[in-house]
Amino acid sequence: MILIVDDKIENITALKKILESHQFQVDSALSGQEALRKILKQAYELVILDVQMPDMDGFEVAEAISGVSKTSDIPIIFLSAVSTSKEFITKGYDSGGHDYLIKPFDPDILVLKIRTFIKLYRQANELSRIQQVLLEEIEQRKMAESKKDEFISIASHELKTPLTSVKGYMQLAELSVQSDDKDNALRFLSRTSNQINKLDILIGELLDISKMASGKLDYNFTEFRFEPFLDNVIDIFQRSNPEWHIIRAGYADVVIHGDSMRLEQVLLNYLSNAIKYSQGTDKVYINVDPISPREIRVCVVDKGIGISKEDQAKLFGKFYRVVQSSNKYQGLGMGLYICSEIITAHDGHYGVESEPGQGSTFYFTLPVAQQP
Ligand code: ADP
Repeated sequence: MILIVDDKIENITALKKILESHQFQVDSALSGQEALRKILKQAYELVILDVQMPDMDGFEVAEAISGVSKTSDIPIIFLSAVSTSKEFITKGYDSGGHDYLIKPFDPDILVLKIRTFIKLYRQANELSRIQQVLLEEIEQRKMAESKKDEFISIASHELKTPLTSVKGYMQLAELSVQSDDKDNALRFLSRTSNQINKLDILIGELLDISKMASGKLDYNFTEFRFEPFLDNVIDIFQRSNPEWHIIRAGYADVVIHGDSMRLEQVLLNYLSNAIKYSQGTDKVYINVDPISPREIRVCVVDKGIGISKEDQAKLFGKFYRVVQSSNKYQGLGMGLYICSEIITAHDGHYGVESEPGQGSTFYFTLPVAQQP
């Protein structure tokens, strides 16, 4: 859209006619003030300014347009029949004009100039848009890079901690064997084994994350009965956490089409978090609800520290950890992210309901393949 600014309506009408016959969209203003009001409201690609106008002349209008960052790049062409000396032309360019035409002008030349200025203006806009996108991308990459560095440092720390414990327990086990203290040796070996399990889980999560980054996790879908599957997971969990009471309620004798190893991973993750974030208690609940003939819901409930509403929305995101508890509890914030991916791959839904200080319920749903 082109804006013609002239205090004489007959000049506007004549110029408008020429420009519209060349398919330009044209708007007009009868004074400098009206032109500035319009320019601030609407995006113009070129302004044609008459030099002699009462109140505010063309130079002042051009200076005002060039002085506002939003409008400073709009090309301005001055038209004048009276102010034709070199001094006026210089003033025109100094005030922000791109061209200065003296009346009478050749309409074809004016149209060619307008086309060129509009083309250059569009190109400049496109370039600055691309520059903006590139700057944002550089900024995002910098942030990702520093997040990655931070992640590597936390991950190395998380791997080093169980490894240091393994070394310590192995030395203690060795000493116990040398002094024929079999009971203590077995105790230290069992602690070693716990730490190795932690390392195994961590490395497994790191591998899953890298698989997710480069495509998809691998799945092995089969049909299996849910009840024996759940009993088995509880059994595995109970054996490595004998001091905890796992209390289950509900029953869903259904067949699931899924990857039982991956679903076991989800449940063990929910259960491990449930005990990790509820120190001082000793019970975790598993509830199974057939919410419809086609869907079951599995909930893992704890009476632990709970989670604020704001954090609940972000927990399943990559590397998200609740800031307040991140110093007290070790972790990388990968577990729930991997769970969300696995549940989604099973056409299930996941979520959390929680009250800070009261505990949390982490749930997921699974479609039923068939009733037995
Ligand atoms: P990690 O436990 O290794 O940090 P997760 O992805 O399993 O990673 O969990 C992400 C975050 O969610 C945890 O850092 C913790 O702040 C919060 N969280 C997960 N489960 C619970 C829970 N049962 N109770 C309270 N907070 C939890």
